[in-house]
Amino acid sequence: MNTYLQQASHGLRRLLSSSHRLQASCSSRLASQCWKCRKTFPKGFPIHCNDCNVIQPIRADQDYFGYFGMDQNFELNPDDLKKKFWKIQSVVHPDKYGMNEEKEQKYAELHSSFANQAYKTLQNPRSRALYMLELSKVEPSETDPAFAMEILELSEEIEEMTKAEDLNAKKHEIEASINELLDSVAANFDKGANEEARESLNRLRYYDRMKKLVVRRLDEISQ
Ligand SMILES: [Zn+2]
Repeated sequence: MNTYLQQASHGLRRLLSSSHRLQASCSSRLASQCWKCRKTFPKGFPIHCNDCNVIQPIRADQDYFGYFGMDQNFELNPDDLKKKFWKIQSVVHPDKYGMNEEKEQKYAELHSSFANQAYKTLQNPRSRALYMLELSKVEPSETDPAFAMEILELSEEIEEMTKAEDLNAKKHEIEASINELLDSVAANFDKGANEEARESLNRLRYYDRMKKLVVRRLDEISQ
């Protein structure tokens, strides 16, 4: 590898390092307790306590995949997801808690709307890809050196921009690339071209970083 490419790959690693830290801090799950009978749950909250059967709250850091008992993979079986969603909806539906105490009614409502939101997000490949970016769970694959250079140059260009209009124009360009890539991720997964889809997800991750960089620069120059 020549020095130029070494620099590029070093720069990209640096760009991505902050999201790796995020990943590490989110994966630790603390034990929790049933609010009613005080039973300890070693791995976060179940929907209902397995001792007293009372409905439980949702952890603040609960992710949508984990909520349905799924791994954080882009590839998922839509029928399986649908089945899991309906299974949860059937046990948390607020109508079933009309006679219960207020706290249980509130938790049932929270579960019901959380399940809806989670299902809607994961069901659609575009929103699923975006959500995974949020979670920073898109594993970087081998990056094409030419693309790595392109991104590195783009980040330098953004760092040097001092006018809001230039930065905003760049932001629109990046958003257009993100939209194209989202379409390509969804289309490729749809037709079973998983390698291509993963490559697009990987590129998406870099463009997402670039967008955040533009937003940061816009913030800096407005100070
Ligand atoms: Zn309990």
